[in-house]
Formats: sequence, structure tokens, C-alpha cells
Amino acid sequence: MDDDAPRRTVPIKLDVPEQRRGDLHQTKAQFLHCANRTSEWAWRYDDYCITSKSKAEDTLYDDLREETDLTANLVQKGIRRAIQAVTGGVEKLKKGEKTSQPHFDSWSVVYDKRSATFNADHATLSTPNGRVTAEYVLPPVDEREDTPFGQYYESDDWDASSATLQYDEQEGTFFLHVTLKNPDYEVDGTERQEAELPDDHEKNGTVLGVDLNVTGALAVTSTGAFIGSADYLNHKRDQYEQRRGKLQQTGTRSAHLTIKSIGSAFSEWSLDWLHNRVNDLIAEAHNADVDGIIFENLDYIRENIANGSKFQQWAYTKFVELIQYKVESTALFVDFVNPAYTSQRCSHCGFTHEDNRDDKQFACQDCGYEANADYNAAKNIANRYCGYIHRGQKSRGGWATSQLALKSGTLNVNGDYTPTELLG
Ligand SMILES: [Zn+2]
Repeated sequence: MDDDAPRRTVPIKLDVPEQRRGDLHQTKAQFLHCANRTSEWAWRYDDYCITSKSKAEDTLYDDLREETDLTANLVQKGIRRAIQAVTGGVEKLKKGEKTSQPHFDSWSVVYDKRSATFNADHATLSTPNGRVTAEYVLPPVDEREDTPFGQYYESDDWDASSATLQYDEQEGTFFLHVTLKNPDYEVDGTERQEAELPDDHEKNGTVLGVDLNVTGALAVTSTGAFIGSADYLNHKRDQYEQRRGKLQQTGTRSAHLTIKSIGSAFSEWSLDWLHNRVNDLIAEAHNADVDGIIFENLDYIRENIANGSKFQQWAYTKFVELIQYKVESTALFVDFVNPAYTSQRCSHCGFTHEDNRDDKQFACQDCGYEANADYNAAKNIANRYCGYIHRGQKSRGGWATSQLALKSGTLNVNGDYTPTELLG
């Protein structure tokens, strides 16, 4: 498992522009607010504390988002920081050692790849006022080899996964303590053992998120498959309507019969076409080796295409029905999520804003993630469903953890998931 990977921490001195230093101090104040609020909430009595991260997130996340200007990820990190400390305290109490409710006042903010980027010579850090870019203060290149920076940070074998931002009050200097992991590290010259396969009842589930559309691709998956062309389907429908319109104008009995026959031919053709797209989607689900296919809930799909024709409404509802029907005889399941903001939310960092999306182009205003907008939405759909499982709002086959299938393999969201009800 990734968590067993060896770690190294490399301290890096930062050169922060004068006018952005205040933003980092503000981030710290708000981050500690999240941690202290969580600690107060979790530490009930000395013999009764809450150590569940998901319970803490369920209870506190929305309030802390209101009370601070931090990004979703930093609020979550603040909550987790506190729960970690509370859990440590509980361990001490169990051993009969003295301890008390954790209080956070030292200068420290926890970042990961969602809230920061770790580049060759600089980092970018999320703050309530957008990202701060901080240059690294490094020794000359030829003197770096023996430094932790040269040995680990610059090595391809080590991967920067998270960091703690700290501040030296005497020097007035910011430091980033970057944690690096080496997943392929060899112990005693032997390859690290593959993680043991979980028991059946702890099997990880994977799901495929699917975004349905009336323009562009009919269905886009969280694995990056673009299935069917909604534009083509609309085009065929328009052609049919035009022919029908002309025939109606002639008004003869034979024209009337022709209308009936092209009508049923078109119904047959479109049903056939949808069947084929359904098969494409199920093939993609098998390909990606997922357990479930997740859509936005049907009421929303109907509403979303309320401006569309009756035909489009029929086609989308039919598509989902056909999928449900076809998976009945397989191990796959179909389920639905609340559709709020799936198209405005960044699937990379969780930042949600209407400006993130411009038609089919998604560009996160916070972290800079860019992707096809429907693909981004499909990942949010899968992510949100995994959040439901994680919070115990839904359960499927007793998953201990849930994963979502992504283009580049699967991303485990158990240890590193973004709260999915960000958006209500
Ligand atoms: Zn983002």
C-alpha cells in the first residue's frame, strides 16, 4: 500500500514576495481555526472523544467553509490534522498517560497536491486570496548533490506528496517541509512485497462516472471514453423532421402512409443506435473493470434537457433504462448521484465556480487544472458516489473503501478523497 512507502522530508526555504506574505499568515490563522474547532468538537470528555474523520467532516465541513475563505482541501486538512491529534490523545489515555484536548497554535499549514504544486524551483500554495508562488532558496547546483534536496527532491525515485508550511518568526522566513515518497523502494535488496489482496468482504469497489449530454458526445466516462455523438443523433432527428414536414404539406393519402412508415423506421433506427451506445458503455465498464456505473439522477437529466426536444428527453431516459436493463444479468450495478455543480466543480482540487466552465472547456480558476468539461464532470460523478459510500450513506457489497476508475488507472479515494457534498 502506498502508505507503507518510505518517506523523506526535505526542508526548503522559500522566497515569498513581500505583498503575498500576509496571505500565507491568513491561511495559517484560518487553518488553525479549522483544527481548533475540530478539536473542541471531537474532545467531548476525557473518556469520550470522536476519532472518526468522516464524522468530523460530515459535521464540521460546511460550517468551516462558511467561517473561513479556505479551499475545500485546506478545510479538510485542518479537520484531519485535529482528528489525528485527538486520536493520538486517545491512545495515550488508553495507556493511562496524562493528556488533554489538543490545541493548535504553532505556525503550521498542511498542503498536498490538491492545494499546492511542487515544482523544480518553486511551489505554488493555495491561500484565501488565490495561489501564492514561492521560489525555492537553494544552494548552487554543483553543491546540491549531498543535500536532501539533491538526493530526494530532485530524484526521479521520490515523489513529492505533501508538505507542511512553517514560519520561522525570528528569521521572518517561510519554510516548506516537503514529504517525499518512494513507492518502489527496495528493502534488503528485495522488491517490496505487493500489498496483500484484501479479503472478499473487504473488496475495494470501483465505479465509472458517466456524464450525459445533448451536444458533443452522448456519454463521457470518468475513464475518458467519449461514447456516441449527440450531435449526430440530433442531426438524424432533424433530417427525419424535415422529411416529415414536407410530406405533411403535400397532404395526400400516400404521403400520410409514408409519414407513418418513416416514423416507425426512425424509431427503430434510434432505438438500435441507442442499443449500440449502451453496449459501448458496458464494454467500457468491463474494460475499466468497474463494479458500478454512476449517472446523475434521472430527474435532473430530464430537467437538464427540458429545453431539448421530447425526442431528446426520450433518448436520454431510454439510454439509462437500457443500461439498467442490460446490467441486470451481470455483476454490474447502476446507481445515481445528486447532480449539483458537477459541471462547475474541479475534479482535481474541488474548487467550485461557474467561471471554471466555458462550454466544453474546463479550466479551474484555483489550481489551473484543464480538461474536457464533460470528462471533468464524469470524474465528479464517480467521486461523489465514492463519497456516499465513504460516509456510509450508501453501501454496495460491503465495500471497506471505495475507488473510482479514472483514465490513468484507479485512484483510491479512501485516504485522499474530497468531500463530495461540498456543494450541497
Ligand atoms: Zn482545481
